[in-house]
Amino acid sequence: MTQDGGGDADGGDATVRTDGPDVAACGRCPDLVASRSRIVNGVGPDDAELVFLGEAPGANEDAEGEPFVGRSGSVLDEALRDAGLARADVRITNCVRCRPPENRDPRSGELANCRGHLERELDAVDPELLVTLGKVPSEHLLDRSVAVTNEAGDVVDARVGDRSYRTVISVHPAATLYDGSQRETFFETIARAADIAGVGEGGGGQSSLGEF
Ligand code: URA
Repeated sequence: MTQDGGGDADGGDATVRTDGPDVAACGRCPDLVASRSRIVNGVGPDDAELVFLGEAPGANEDAEGEPFVGRSGSVLDEALRDAGLARADVRITNCVRCRPPENRDPRSGELANCRGHLERELDAVDPELLVTLGKVPSEHLLDRSVAVTNEAGDVVDARVGDRSYRTVISVHPAATLYDGSQRETFFETIARAADIAGVGEGGGGQSSLGEF
């Protein structure tokens, strides 16, 4: 499906082409078109109960075309395993699908340009629960400043498009690599999210929400 017409197939201008929840071509952000090698779409089941939302691809993700495949991804995989889940059980995506130059944070205009892609993906997947990995996705979805370390594990409602999604705030897995004290917070948050979503070892689902 083409959302905007008139551009080349590589997304070298403002053209957007989509294929289901995937973005096949997009040229909305000139800086990102220049810095990316490819568009990195979300991975995982298209009916996943649990969706993890990161910030933007880094160098490894840009090279491999998959979110969270670098060191942060290894931490995420480990926390998922601890919670009784495999990576293939969940969906993993990013607020922005193209690698920002020198891994800078995505700019507000870039987040806004990519928002429609995320809205379509979430609408199609219809998850039980989202998990925002770090400050950028948490603030992007909640539209307020978020102190992720203090708020990690909190369950909130996030408005995306015309829908509201139950969401667990988490620290970014990379935070555990430079601050060991964040590891327990991260692992506990992922286990809590799995339990609330009713997947993984706990499998508690909605009935366990009262504990939180
Ligand atoms: N960090 C993110 O936020 N997303 C990725 O895909 C990789 C690292």
